[in-house]
Amino acid sequence: MDETLLMIPGPTRVAPRVLKAMSENIINHRSALFGEILTETNQMMSEVFQTENQSYLITGSGTAAMEAALANTISKGDRVLNIVGGKFGQRFMQITETHKGIPVQLEVEWGHGVNPDDVRYILEEEEDIKAVTIVHNETSTGVTNPIDEVGKIMQDYDALYIVDTVSSLGGDDVFVDGYGIDICVTGSQKCLAAPPGIAAITLSDDAWDVVDKTDNQTYYLNLKKYKKSGDATPPETPYTPAVSLIYAMQEALRVIMEEGLEERVLRHKLAAKATQNGVTALGLELFAQKEVSSNTVTSVRMPEGITDKELRGTMRERYRIELAGGQDHLKGNVFRVGHMGNITHREIISTIAALEMTMQGLGLDVEIGEGVAAVADTYLAE
Ligand SMILES: *Cc1c(COP(=O)(O)O)cnc(C)c1O
Repeated sequence: MDETLLMIPGPTRVAPRVLKAMSENIINHRSALFGEILTETNQMMSEVFQTENQSYLITGSGTAAMEAALANTISKGDRVLNIVGGKFGQRFMQITETHKGIPVQLEVEWGHGVNPDDVRYILEEEEDIKAVTIVHNETSTGVTNPIDEVGKIMQDYDALYIVDTVSSLGGDDVFVDGYGIDICVTGSQKCLAAPPGIAAITLSDDAWDVVDKTDNQTYYLNLKKYKKSGDATPPETPYTPAVSLIYAMQEALRVIMEEGLEERVLRHKLAAKATQNGVTALGLELFAQKEVSSNTVTSVRMPEGITDKELRGTMRERYRIELAGGQDHLKGNVFRVGHMGNITHREIISTIAALEMTMQGLGLDVEIGEGVAAVADTYLAE
């Protein structure tokens, strides 16, 4: 089995007890026992979302929940403000188009966060915006958007506030009720540290009102069905769920509850700080603006004269550490270090140590130990 250290922004390694949970045999998904598992899992999911509302699990990756959010709330011709500052912001826009909505794009320079005033400006200027989509943590750039501030603005407007927290939930502050989020979506395989294949969604009463009035064009992702089954006693899912993955979600969420959400967010914050300090001590430049840099993924500009293949290839082949590359126009220009899920100081120290050795091996002028010292200082300062 490949034991390469995964320092990518999902999927992430899962705890052995989560793997073990998946080895339990399959049970009837329409039984009291499975109902108990779903009840606990959904409740923990709502706790992690920090909402009083119900959460629902969808068998599928994070994108399934992104699509469910829009497919159930927009009808043909509805205008949607899509905040786009990277790959996943674009995805929400493409889904808007797929479901015959009309995207009103607020383009944000990659590496920057959205300016909340720009959101207000568009909501003032444009009529009939039915929904606003925003990606909390733009995984492609390593930027965290100010969903709290945008949420405050949204209070003044009727539009639904739809937030993608796929790569932040469990690794950064997400207060669904506190921020006034109407629909929040996430995925299993990032900060929640469960295997890929489960998406989660939660909706406010306002959002359900819109769902009820929307003539949706989706069958598998029809949220009314998820609500009907999910709110029954015992709860069910409308179609056969990935039973083993639900076992894994239950166990992964228990791990989160045991660590404590606040502690977990702090651990991620520290991992981000240590990573940033480590790479900058090696003379590398961060891609994302400092004020909006992510808790869960750090994007770094590729050093001059070094190719992606050389840097990430050496990290992978010689040091058995997997980093992520850039996407779209950032391909070859940045590399990304994911530090989400169960990552601790151990993995950050190893990664930065390997990065130093890789850089020196590629002929770059680095002092061995400087990056690691910066990581150590960061952790020791806490
Ligand atoms: C990973 C991710 C998704 C979902 O991607 P899937 O491959 O469908 O799980 C959505 N949004 C963000 C910000 C992500 O990082």
